[in-house]
Amino acid sequence: MALPGREAVIAQVASLSVECADCGRNRWWRPDELKRFGVNGNTPLAALSGRIVCSACRADGLPGAAVSIQAAFIDERQRVRSEARMLSDREAPLAGSRRA
Ligand SMILES: [Zn+2]
Repeated sequence: MALPGREAVIAQVASLSVECADCGRNRWWRPDELKRFGVNGNTPLAALSGRIVCSACRADGLPGAAVSIQAAFIDERQRVRSEARMLSDREAPLAGSRRA
């Protein structure tokens, strides 16, 4: 998995999407749910593949290692939130204006 820019670590991640190519299951993990995989805030995202496996496939006796991992970054979430705030600021005077 190639990431743009500097190497990202788990501490920067809000949540992770793990999709299994074998069974098609997809789920979102919070970083603190990944402790069972030996993942902590300093773990680089690049180190996740190979650590995170599909538990459903594992239960069927398959390796479960054909997962693709996508990260949602805390920074992006903050950016979205501030954009939403700007929008509502812009809408407020419009909603308050009753003159046509
Ligand atoms: Zn699977």
